Amino acid sequence: MRVLIADDSAPSRILLRSALLRWGYDVAVAENGAQAWEILAAPDAPTMAILDWVMPHMTGPEVCRRVREAHREPYTYILLLTSKNTKDETVEGLEAGADDYIVKPFDEHELQVRLRAGQRIVDLQMHLLQAREELRERANKDLLTMLPNRPAIAARLEQEVSRCHRDRRTVGVILLDLDHFKKINDTYGHFAGDAVLRETASRLKGNMRPYDAVGRYGGEEFLVVLPNCDLEQATTQAERMRHRLHGSTMLVDGVEMRVSASFGVTVSDCSERNPDIFVRVADEALYRAKASGRNCVSSLTLQESAARLT
Ligand code: GH3
Ligand code: MG
Ligand code: MG
Repeated sequence: MRVLIADDSAPSRILLRSALLRWGYDVAVAENGAQAWEILAAPDAPTMAILDWVMPHMTGPEVCRRVREAHREPYTYILLLTSKNTKDETVEGLEAGADDYIVKPFDEHELQVRLRAGQRIVDLQMHLLQAREELRERANKDLLTMLPNRPAIAARLEQEVSRCHRDRRTVGVILLDLDHFKKINDTYGHFAGDAVLRETASRLKGNMRPYDAVGRYGGEEFLVVLPNCDLEQATTQAERMRHRLHGSTMLVDGVEMRVSASFGVTVSDCSERNPDIFVRVADEALYRAKASGRNCVSSLTLQESAARLT
């Protein structure tokens, strides 16, 4: 664990540093409050800090206040080191956001155990952050295919549509649906169906640029988001995916199967910001692909779709 020592007195810094190194900590050193804040505001900041109260440029409590205002994650555990030991000053230090304080000249053993107490809090918070990150990841993932789930891919589409709107570019949108998938389930069983979904996900994913995204939109429906793509490029990509799926058989439970999907393609349009509209148009194109015999790609623009409705 890295600990910042901020003290304007050189002998005090040397004393603290050697003690902390002896106890196995990594140490960063600042000679004044401004330097301390700079170190604590950096991306890889130490998670614990020992701040002297009186320092040039910025006092310990001031640094504390800034750190708390920044709401950093992970948490910075702050110990104020002070020769001030009146009750009012202690309260002031804690109110500034310090977690603990120790009075100078400090007792080495006391400092060591107080640091250990701080470390326990920092460790606990790290575990909580990790758990939250795992939960967040799970909440966005479809656990069968490990692709982004419907809310996650819809959010991605929304993000790309608004980004491209700003940059006056378009986003390609592909909605694809496996053909006669019910028959695979009925013939080979639900587990084989699941394996087909997993293999489909892997083939779709293996066929994309790094900044493209694919997610599981429904049971056997997938949504593909292609930033900076026009309709022609998106259609070409859909054709590529169709070939990738149908071009070779899948081996599921020792059975070779040839799977196909139908693809509906559209592209975002500067006149429309609602991403759901583009999914609806892609769905309309997908319906057309199904109607024209499946295992094919059909494309439709927003204008064409609107013209069909009027
Ligand atoms: P079409 O070509 O018209 O799309 O026909 P289809 O049979 O693919 O379409 P339909 O909507 O009739 O059937 C989809 C099937 O997908 C029905 C449902 O049980 C199955 N399904 C949905 N989710 C899962 C899943 O997670 N695992 C498995 N094995 N099957 C699923
Ligand atoms: Mg289907
Ligand atoms: Mg379907």
